[in-house]
Amino acid sequence: MSDRDPVTEEEMRAWAEEEAREHGYRLNEDERQLGAVLKGLARSRERFGERYCPCRIRSGDTEKDRAIICPCVHREAEVAEQGRCHCNLFLAPET
Ligand code: SF4
Repeated sequence: MSDRDPVTEEEMRAWAEEEAREHGYRLNEDERQLGAVLKGLARSRERFGERYCPCRIRSGDTEKDRAIICPCVHREAEVAEQGRCHCNLFLAPET
């Protein structure tokens, strides 16, 4: 990861597009679902200073919760196994 630190929803979208491109994923094409996740990430960044996954519960333990900062540690395995991450933000490439 680079030191990009998106804050707003628009910045989050640009960041997610770049992330997807870099790692060979697609973003969810459902604009409503995509927007909801991006909004959740931006809200988390604003409230907590980190892009905590909007689809997972924070424990409140900063060390532990590091694992669920987007892109979370589960992304790669989830996309490989289910074709999408838990939030449906990042999807496997179309085959
Ligand atoms: S499940 Fe998806 S949106 Fe949530 S943190 Fe992981 S990669 Fe990001």
